[in-house]
Amino acid sequence: MKYIEIRLTPADGQLEELTGFLLAAGITDTVVDDPADLAELLNKKEDYEWDYVDSAVLKGAEIKPRITFYLEDSAANRRRASELAAQAQQTFAGLTAEISTEDDSAWKDEWKKYFKPARITERLTVKPTWENYTPSAGELVIEIDPGMAFGTGTHETTSLCLALLEKYLQPGERVLDIGCGSGILSIGAALLGASAVLAVDIDPQAVFVSRENVALNGCEAVVRVQQGDLTKGLDFEADLIAANLMADLVIMLSPHAGQHLRRGGLYISSGILAEKCAEVEAAIREAGFAIEEIRQDGMWCAIAARWQ
Ligand code: SAH
Repeated sequence: MKYIEIRLTPADGQLEELTGFLLAAGITDTVVDDPADLAELLNKKEDYEWDYVDSAVLKGAEIKPRITFYLEDSAANRRRASELAAQAQQTFAGLTAEISTEDDSAWKDEWKKYFKPARITERLTVKPTWENYTPSAGELVIEIDPGMAFGTGTHETTSLCLALLEKYLQPGERVLDIGCGSGILSIGAALLGASAVLAVDIDPQAVFVSRENVALNGCEAVVRVQQGDLTKGLDFEADLIAANLMADLVIMLSPHAGQHLRRGGLYISSGILAEKCAEVEAAIREAGFAIEEIRQDGMWCAIAARWQ
């Protein structure tokens, strides 16, 4: 689709006034880039701190405050864009206006080129929905369209979890997947023979994508997906918990994980940077688990622990 991008950068950061100006002109959908918000977010000292911040995000803290909005491409809208830019420049001294026409059809699906069928573990292969693939005997195929959710299987934390699931999950067992993302671990568990899987994610988008992927793999009878925050309010006892989150969230989850496991059940956690592994391991022991094994791939770790 072709659209017009209008980017306004006020000289002295008057974002509120500019938003008001645009609202009065009927522009309600805007993207506000305010480095102050980002600085606040990155400094957040709430329940947990960020382990890992993508360098693209850090770059965002260096930009000038600005507002961007989009109009569908047409002759009338091109005229409207220039008029709005000129009015904004009259109202806000020193404001910079950039207008460009973009076509997103070329790059929207660009990433799909890099997501190919991949054998992740001995038995499990992950295949994007749009690729054709003929599995060999005994190979289990997870079909995934990740959409906006995390989990194509190619990230080390996901493949570490799938490998541990494959090793420890016994057919007929019950699984709790905390932070299901694309639903990949839940579907993997179902293919490996789990009798019931409860998948939970705090992000409604992930819940939506997981449900679609569960249906795509024909696992609706086994996997239930629901929105939730870690194990809060859950009434489910599992033989195995998989939680690919991040170190501080795993530490928060660990004291509650045992309440949802049978004695001897397994707790697989990942999303743990190598430098945080010892701290997470200590929290898991402290919560009453015995460490079964720790695996590392690149900078990431996964821990398998047994409920005593
Ligand atoms: N299980 C997938 C996705 C892992 S990404 C895989 O292994 O590839 C981590 C997921 O945890 C994200 O989808 C994120 O939305 C979710 N998450 C983050 N905080 C959470 C919380 N407090 N409760 C439940 N899910 C959470």
